[in-house]
Amino acid sequence: MNDAGVFDTVAPPRAVLDVLSGRQGSALMLGHVHPDGDVLGTLLALGLGLNAAGWSVTWAGPHPIPDVLSFLPGAKAWQVWRTVPCAFDVIVLTDCPNPDRTEGLVDAARRPSSLVLNIDHHPDNRRYGTLNWIDPTAAATGEMVFDLLKALGHPITPEIALNLFTAIHTDTGSFRYSNTTPRTFRIAAELTASGAEPALVSDWLYQRRAPDALDTLGRVLRRVSVSDDGRVAWLTVPRGLASEAFLEAEDLVTYPRSIEGVEVALLLREEDKGLVKASLRGKGQVAVNRIAQRFGGGGHENAAGCTVRGTLEEATALMLDAVRSALTEDRR
Ligand code: 5GP
Ligand code: MN
Repeated sequence: MNDAGVFDTVAPPRAVLDVLSGRQGSALMLGHVHPDGDVLGTLLALGLGLNAAGWSVTWAGPHPIPDVLSFLPGAKAWQVWRTVPCAFDVIVLTDCPNPDRTEGLVDAARRPSSLVLNIDHHPDNRRYGTLNWIDPTAAATGEMVFDLLKALGHPITPEIALNLFTAIHTDTGSFRYSNTTPRTFRIAAELTASGAEPALVSDWLYQRRAPDALDTLGRVLRRVSVSDDGRVAWLTVPRGLASEAFLEAEDLVTYPRSIEGVEVALLLREEDKGLVKASLRGKGQVAVNRIAQRFGGGGHENAAGCTVRGTLEEATALMLDAVRSALTEDRR
């Protein structure tokens, strides 16, 4: 796209640099629902950099930071909002393809005078900002924000490095997924040299299970099913089976995904009010974001999600049907 304000480039666009290196004003770093490592790591890192350069920075979103990510430097400043208390000169959203994913906060925060910076690596980003910098070749928005901070001339402090390293670590599945590139490792190396400790990140993310978590994991994993032809595996989690903290800490979809021969893996979580949250993972054969889009969701080719109305059984049947059609029609 070449519309004004849309930049589908790898390098940080001049217009974005001009906004962030110009007059220091107030900046809102705004997160999306159920914030993960990439959105939090990038908002915290960029905000810390701007703050050190004289900006007044506020971090907020519709949901709290999950316990498992509470180690991120700056996390204590995170605010949970239902409404927006005041106006900001600049509103920054990272890793947020769709303004609806702020539960109305971006629209509430927007004034005719405010500049909305939309920085993201999702290919289906809706380009809702005043300036939109979208690079789907980035493994994580963390890679883009690293380049942005460097281009702005901000020092990569150990706190910023830890945030960005976590953003990249989580979105690449600990550097294991196909989005991992030489650029990913180059940036991760620079972040490590700047003070991010990879072992510390792994320790926080994977080595701090509650004593009863393995028992719960055992109960949950017995629910994995595999299709007769072995191409689809899924895991359904009814409400009440595991705590919210457990579900936030465990990347459960990786288990059905880990089975040899499986082309599409699904996690279906029963939520409140007759809603089911689906997480889809592919391994290159089927673009799972196209399946999620059919249900109003989105994401990347190999990692996507959506929310479906209905009981867990109904949602599972609906999603499996869509996956089955995609497997027959959609071979890449
Ligand atoms: P997860 O399955 O871990 O929640 O999300 C995987 C990917 O799918 C992420 O890139 C995330 O942004 C995207 N995603 C998950 N749920 C939704 C959704 O409901 N709508 C959209 N547009 N994207 C989603
Ligand atoms: Mn991301």
